[in-house]
Amino acid sequence: MRILRIAIILALAAIAAFAQAPQQPTAKNPKTESVTFSPDLLDKNVDPCTDFYAYACSKWQAQNPIPSDQPGWGRFNELQERGQYIVRDILEKYSANDPKRNAIEQKIGDYYQTCMDESAIEAAGTKPLESELNAIAALQSKQDITKEAIRLQRQGVGVLFSFDSTPDFKNATQVIAETDQGGMALPDRDYYLKDDPKSVEIRKQYVEHVQKMFELLGDTPQKSAAEAKTVMDIETALAKGALDRVSRRDPNKVYHKMTVTELAALAPDFNWTVYFDGIGAPPTQALNVTEPEFFKQMDTALKNTSLDDWKTYLRWQVVHAASPVLPSKFVNENFNFFSKTLAGTKELSPRWKRCVRYADNDLGEAIGQKYVDLTFGASGKERTLKMVNALEKALGDDIQNLSWMGADTKKQAMVKLQAITNRIGYPDKWRDYTPLKIVRGDALGNSLRSNEFAFQHDLNKIGKPVDKQDWPYPPMTVNASYNPLQNNITFPAGILQPPFYDNKADDAMNFGGIGAVIGHELTHGFDDQGSQFDPQGNLRDWWTPQDKKEFDQRTGCVADEYSGFTAIEDVKLNGKLTLGENTADNGGLRIAYMALMDTYAGKEPPPVDGLTAKQRFFLGWANVWCQNRSDAYSRMLANIDPHSPGKFRVNGTVSNMPEFREAYHCKADAPMVRQNACRVW
Ligand SMILES: [Zn+2]
Repeated sequence: MRILRIAIILALAAIAAFAQAPQQPTAKNPKTESVTFSPDLLDKNVDPCTDFYAYACSKWQAQNPIPSDQPGWGRFNELQERGQYIVRDILEKYSANDPKRNAIEQKIGDYYQTCMDESAIEAAGTKPLESELNAIAALQSKQDITKEAIRLQRQGVGVLFSFDSTPDFKNATQVIAETDQGGMALPDRDYYLKDDPKSVEIRKQYVEHVQKMFELLGDTPQKSAAEAKTVMDIETALAKGALDRVSRRDPNKVYHKMTVTELAALAPDFNWTVYFDGIGAPPTQALNVTEPEFFKQMDTALKNTSLDDWKTYLRWQVVHAASPVLPSKFVNENFNFFSKTLAGTKELSPRWKRCVRYADNDLGEAIGQKYVDLTFGASGKERTLKMVNALEKALGDDIQNLSWMGADTKKQAMVKLQAITNRIGYPDKWRDYTPLKIVRGDALGNSLRSNEFAFQHDLNKIGKPVDKQDWPYPPMTVNASYNPLQNNITFPAGILQPPFYDNKADDAMNFGGIGAVIGHELTHGFDDQGSQFDPQGNLRDWWTPQDKKEFDQRTGCVADEYSGFTAIEDVKLNGKLTLGENTADNGGLRIAYMALMDTYAGKEPPPVDGLTAKQRFFLGWANVWCQNRSDAYSRMLANIDPHSPGKFRVNGTVSNMPEFREAYHCKADAPMVRQNACRVW
C-alpha cells in the first residue's frame, strides 16, 4: 500500500478489492444509466432538518438491500456494476482465439478467457504453484531470503516490506525509491496488536484460515496448525514496527530520506547489496525509508526466526497471493476469511465479475482504451473542465474572503490553487503493454507476469522527473483523486456519469453531485495533509505561524465533530483518521454551492417538483452517498478507511452550513443545525 500518493473520494484500493458486484443482477437493466434523482425517493415521513440523510436515502436503502455477494452497496456500486458489464462485453469480444486480433486485443481476450476457464484451473490443481513452492523449499540459508524476497516482490507477493517509487517529498519533480512497511496479510497493523475481544476473535479466525490454506497445500492438520502459528508470529513481529494509520497521514512521519548504507545499518541481517542489485531499480544512492522503526523490527525478526519458519511464512504469502487464480477450494477458503469474516459478505460473486475485476487490475489501460472509445466523447472532457474552472474560481473567492487567514498566507494559497492541474477522462498517452506476455491457459502465470510488469513500470520511474501523464488507475474507475505530491486532480471517465453528472439533470443536481466531488478534490490541496505541500508538490511550510494556529483550531473542530459519530455498535469514527476527507467534504460542498450561486448570478430558477434549486443542490450531494453496509464491513472500514460512512458525509457536512439551514427553513435547535458549526474552508 503506497502512502500519501493520492487522496481518493471513495475508498482505499485495498478496500475496493472487497467490493464486488452482485450475483443476481437487480431487476433494473445494469447496462442502462441509473436515474440521478427522483423526488419519489424522498422519505416524506422524515423531517430533513432532523435527519437529512434519512430524508434523502432511507427509501433508496429500503429498495436496495445489500446483494449477497457484497459487503455493502451504494450508488457508487450501481455505477461500478454498469461499468463491469461494459468491460465484460469488451473482454468477451476478444476472447476467441482469432488471429486477426491486434496485440492489445490478444492480451485482454486471452487473459479473460483463461481466467474464465475454471475447468482447466481445477484440472491443473496446485501444479502451477509448484515452481514457486520449490524455489522456497530450496533456500539454503537466511542469506538466501533476500534473493527469494526479490523474486516474490517482483511478482506482487507482499513479503517482508514493500518497495516502490515516489516523488521526493522535498524535491517533488524528481522520483526516488521508497521502502515501506508491509509483509502482513491482514488489512492493518492494528489487527495484530489490539486487545479488544473482537480483534482477539478475528486473529483466532485468521490463524484458522492460514491453517486451512496449508492443509489445502497438502500439509497435515497438525503441521498446518504449527505453520499458521509461525505465520502469525512473524506477521505480528512486523506489525510491532509498523506505523499506525493516523500517524501515516502525517507526511513528516513517513519521510526519512536515507542512503542505502543507512538503511542497511537499520537492518543488517537483510542483504541490501544483493537486493538493490536484483530488484530492478536503477542504481539507488538515497531513498525514502517511510518508517525506520519497521526495518529495525524486521531485522530483529530475521535474527530471531529460523530459516524453516521463514520458509513457512514465504509459502503462506505465495498461496495467499495466488489463491484467486487457483482451484475453487482455495478461492472459497480465501473468500471465507477475507470477504465473509472480515467484511460480512455472504456469497462469492460470479466468476465473470471476478475475472473482470482482475483484468481491470492487471490490464487496466489496455481495457481502458476500448472503454473510452465506447463511452466517453470529447464533449465529456469539455463539460467537466467547465465545471472544474467554476469550482476553482469559487475556491479562490472563498480563500480571498476567509476571515481567519492573513494576507500573506492567502497569497500563497492562491498561488497553490492556480498551480493545480487537471486530468480528466483518460490519459493522453496510454501505457505500453508490449513487454507483458499473456499466455492462453496460464492463469497464475498471467497474474504473476502482470504484477511483475506493473512493478517494473513503477520502478522505471526512479531517477527520472515525475511523469504527470502516468495515471494512478484506469479510466473506467468510479473514483476521483488529488495528489499532493503533484498538485493535480484526476477525474476518470468512470465517475463522469449519472448519478454524479447527468446531461439531463439541472445545474443544482450536477453541482451537488460531481461539482461537490470536484470541490472535494480541490480542497484536499488544503486539508491537514495537503496544506503541508507547496504549489510544486514539495513538503514545505508556506503558512504564517498565526494562520497555521487558526487552521489547526478549525480542523480540530472537524476532528471532534466526526469523532462523536458512531460507526457501528461500540465503534466511533476516528476523527483524526478521517480528518482530511471530512475537511474536503465540507470545503467541497461549500465551494460547489458558491459556484452554483455564481452560475445563477442572482437569477435562481423556479422550483422543480416542489423543491427549490438550493434544496435540490443538497439533495444532489446526499444522493451520491446513499448506501447500505454489513455490520462487519462498517466495523472494518471504521478501522482503516479515511472516509466517513455516507450518513456522516451528508449529515456531518450539511449541519455545518447555514446555507442548508436556510434552504430547508430549519429551526435553530434542529438536529441538522450544529450549535458549534465547524468551518475550515
Ligand atoms: Zn478525498
